[in-house]
Amino acid sequence: MTERAKRAARIRDARNNREEVRAPSGSRKNTRKWCRGVVGRQHEPEIRDYAEYKKVSPRIFSGWRVVICKNCGKELEMCYGRAPKRFFAS
Ligand SMILES: [Zn+2]
Repeated sequence: MTERAKRAARIRDARNNREEVRAPSGSRKNTRKWCRGVVGRQHEPEIRDYAEYKKVSPRIFSGWRVVICKNCGKELEMCYGRAPKRFFAS
């Protein structure tokens, strides 16, 4: 590293001391597992027709389904034919 680069890095470090800036990992909400990142709240799965949901050609995506969450709209899974039972176990 050149002296110039070292100095630039030091200045950058000195500037980057804002505490409200969150780290990109670790504290982020887990929306894959929990609905809207609220720990303990499960997504509410609902089956939709993929072509209709995505506004794509029904001819090409015939038979495809998408499992979305009723509450947050997250796409949980795409599947062909029947949706996996694990979403609707209860
Ligand atoms: Zn959800």
